[in-house]
Amino acid sequence: MIVFLPLWLDKLLPPRFYFDKTASLTVPIPQPTETAEVIRCLHCRSVITRPSQAIDMAGQHHHVVTNPAGMRFAIVLFHEARGLISGEPTLQHTWFSGYSWQLATCLQCGIHLGWYFSQPQARSFYGLIKARLVL
Ligand SMILES: [Zn+2]
Repeated sequence: MIVFLPLWLDKLLPPRFYFDKTASLTVPIPQPTETAEVIRCLHCRSVITRPSQAIDMAGQHHHVVTNPAGMRFAIVLFHEARGLISGEPTLQHTWFSGYSWQLATCLQCGIHLGWYFSQPQARSFYGLIKARLVL
């Protein structure tokens, strides 16, 4: 059914109700937003890294590790991440042979997100606690 509006009513309608013959040709196609391509801190939702930064070590992206206190962590590995690195690098109890580790916390909220692993002859990476991320 077609309803013809009187011309005087057309002048009263807000601009978004005006019919634009070219509109259907120029409406942009929605693109995936950048927010869909980031990994966030579960606690404060700030951006930590991107799926494109994911790496494997020993053939695995996901690792389950246990610290000397007996705490188990499911971690995922990324080359780059946005986090605060603290403490002196140490090889003590490292989970990745030859890589020293430091704590990595969220810049925004300070929650412990995981560890930063480095060694002089290889590219550094982050091991981030999966349960503290929005993947
Ligand atoms: Zn946070």
